[in-house]
Amino acid sequence: MKNMPVLTPIPFHKASLGREELAEAAAAIKSGWITMGPKTVEFEGRLRDYLAARAGTDPKRLHAVSVNSATAALHLALKAIGLKRGDEVIIPTTTFIATAEVVTYFGAIPVLCDVEEDTHNIDASLIERRVTRRTKAIIPVHFAGQPCDMDEIMALARRRRLKVIEDAAHSLPSFYKGRPVGVIGDITCFSFYATKTLATGEGGMLVTASEAYARHARINRLHGISRDAWDRYTLKGSWFYEVVDNGYKYNTTDINAGLGLAQLRRLDAMNEARLRIAARYDRAFAGSAVVGPVVRGGRETCAHLYVIKVGNRDALYDKLKADGIGTSVHFIPVHKHPYYRKAFGYRNADYPVANRVFERSLSLPIYPDMTNAQADFVAARVLAHAR
Ligand SMILES: *Cc1c(COP(=O)(O)O)cnc(C)c1O
Repeated sequence: MKNMPVLTPIPFHKASLGREELAEAAAAIKSGWITMGPKTVEFEGRLRDYLAARAGTDPKRLHAVSVNSATAALHLALKAIGLKRGDEVIIPTTTFIATAEVVTYFGAIPVLCDVEEDTHNIDASLIERRVTRRTKAIIPVHFAGQPCDMDEIMALARRRRLKVIEDAAHSLPSFYKGRPVGVIGDITCFSFYATKTLATGEGGMLVTASEAYARHARINRLHGISRDAWDRYTLKGSWFYEVVDNGYKYNTTDINAGLGLAQLRRLDAMNEARLRIAARYDRAFAGSAVVGPVVRGGRETCAHLYVIKVGNRDALYDKLKADGIGTSVHFIPVHKHPYYRKAFGYRNADYPVANRVFERSLSLPIYPDMTNAQADFVAARVLAHAR
């Protein structure tokens, strides 16, 4: 045991930020322009180009609108499709609350759907029986980075005239049958929250092939003003603006965009590093009592999360904590939260798979700067404690 590297504590997450991020953020600060400006425009363009290149499509046919969170992106997406009071939106119950919350902003109803036992994604075979005359959209959530059954979901949406807004907070970069998440549904919403695969502290991006949706989102992210603030303050612009919609204050800053530019350049390398950790965990847990994530055919996950299922989740959480290993649980299903139970009358018994998955799930540390030795240590401790 001599010369053992110090392995612990191993936090649940640590963002991978270095010299490039520092330099880009510093450049934004030194420029003297620290709200939305040229770096935000550059970041939008680079993310659009990144997705278009992987989709093999013309970048001009894709639009990326930077906002200050994925929650904001989802809100703007639902506004862009014209969601109204009393409308219904179908979402999985296994998700972060933001997916449900944005529906309630409109006085609309989040209609919950149970999930698949192996992927924790919305069970596409259960969606159609939840469609009513009031259903306007489906928000699939690509859990942990693994894309949902998008062929089935898109076909159903087209048949029943519904919009598909993807909650892609976990899935940059992820692929479904060779196509990147971002070019499949009507609108895709990415998160750049501190723990996500591309982190800018807070941030998000709305991506769509629809010029009309993109224009709507650009106007609504900044007070409904017909032009971005940046335009108004350049020498080419003028003081005049008009408010053409009842918008929001959802813009990003060039400091965040600087972080995003640096992170995007490193995205593929960071992705490979996470996949390396996932592969080590997979090998360690094969044939044991620990059920690892299952990735179905035709999908490439970015392994944003590595969720195991065990019989003694709560005890395992405590024991790993005592070992100096941070873990987490994704997610407490929407139907279990008191506000949502009360407001919408969800019944626990309607979501048997989500309940089973929730009770057994534990998310292990997985991030680019984790060493192989740390991953092996985590796996060994999990195997020592898991039942
Ligand atoms: C993180 C997350 C969000 C919200 O992202 P923000 O950028 O923090 O608003 C939405 N949906 C899911 C599934 C998430 O994990």
